[in-house]
Amino acid sequence: MSPAGGGAAGQGARRVFVSLGSNVGDRAGYLRAAREALAALPATLVLAASRVYETAPQELADQPSFLNQVLCLETGLEPRDLLRQCQRIEADHGRRREVRFGPRTLDIDILLYEGVECDGRELTLPHPRMMKRAFVLVPLQEVWGWRRGMPALDLAALAEAARRTQAVRVVEEADGVAQGAEDEP
Ligand code: ADP
Ligand code: MG
Repeated sequence: MSPAGGGAAGQGARRVFVSLGSNVGDRAGYLRAAREALAALPATLVLAASRVYETAPQELADQPSFLNQVLCLETGLEPRDLLRQCQRIEADHGRRREVRFGPRTLDIDILLYEGVECDGRELTLPHPRMMKRAFVLVPLQEVWGWRRGMPALDLAALAEAARRTQAVRVVEEADGVAQGAEDEP
């Protein structure tokens, strides 16, 4: 149900890119659970999903490899409310905050939020480490056609540079959710 004149996620809903990561237990299951939980948030739609990639751990190398995926959402939730919901979903799926950059069942990071830049300890947008991470940039490229209201980034160049030193490989096709397309005027 959407209010008259609003998008499907409600009037004034904004585009958001989020990244999902998991390197403990049923990694693909945790990503699926995250997609479902995000889609179930109030006034929120999952517009597009990248394929799932397997990637080598970065900041802390001595841990299992990750599965990563990027989603494009449309949401009526404010950035901080969305962050808290993401943290609640992580906690609901066994996330413990122990070692920074260490193993985790589920990590949900907000990469970009339409029209918002901020630099706080709780929330920094764009995500401060996204520009150098192949595990973010490569899947983000696949759903970048949905970038309405986002900063102009040369993602192809950023992704190519990051891929030179960071291995990423596709493990799973997107399941029934849109990927490319929807480049808007
Ligand atoms: P990381 O994802 O960097 O490995 P965490 O998931 O434990 O680590 O997040 C660390 C902190 O980063 C969180 O407490 C959160 O408040 C903060 N944070 C700042 N900006 C963002 C963002 N854009 N998305 C998600 N978390 C963020
Ligand atoms: Mg995180």
